[in-house]
Amino acid sequence: MEFLFIIIVIFGVILFAFTTYSRTAVARGALGELRVRIVIGKTKEGKKYVINNFMVVDEGKSSQIDHIVINQNGLFVIETKNYSGRIYGNENQQEWTQVLSYGKVKHKLYNPIKQNATHIYRINKLLSEKVSIKSLIVFVQNNTDYIQAADVIPLYALKRTLNKSSATVLTDEQMKNIYEVLHKAKANEEVSAKAHINNIKQMKLDIQNDICPRCGGKLLEKTGKYGTFFGCEKYPHCKFIRKSNSK
Ligand SMILES: [Zn+2]
Repeated sequence: MEFLFIIIVIFGVILFAFTTYSRTAVARGALGELRVRIVIGKTKEGKKYVINNFMVVDEGKSSQIDHIVINQNGLFVIETKNYSGRIYGNENQQEWTQVLSYGKVKHKLYNPIKQNATHIYRINKLLSEKVSIKSLIVFVQNNTDYIQAADVIPLYALKRTLNKSSATVLTDEQMKNIYEVLHKAKANEEVSAKAHINNIKQMKLDIQNDICPRCGGKLLEKTGKYGTFFGCEKYPHCKFIRKSNSK
């Protein structure tokens, strides 16, 4: 009996943790992206190329592109939105409105068409060949009834939209080339993001080992007006200091 009770408690805690997590904005975003990933599927050599979660850095600003699909119908840049309630907006408005609880709660969101336009501008810069890029904003909860914009679609229409043939058709070679350029750029961005994190780690490690993170010199314990501290041996050329107790 006691055993059963414990099981029920554990189950309850897990359920509570999951429902709490799934209500957060981060979780909602991640779950939305996952649902879109399932619809667009994986890269099929010669037919379809998919890149998910692409971080582009341009002029010091980074943006996160949810999905890129390249097929014979073109190059699609997809932004996923997992909002509930009613969404009101059109192409030109700076902000859209989310209405919840029968009109009692309203939230503003930045026009996702403008957000995706920035993504497209950055993708364009990476490509040497000019191709027309198609913007798609996908609402995972299919609540697009009050949005007046051509490129905004409900999730259920995504597959059809990607497979609808249009005037701009990419050849097998073009698809492959575009994919390779973007894939390489994605890898480079990831390397530089990792390098940035490693630099910070290395800096902390240096300080712990009494090495100056600025110039690589030795850090020496010195006594000043306010007590002891560590200063760089290359002082006055290097003015790095660390408090004695900040290891
Ligand atoms: Zn130094």
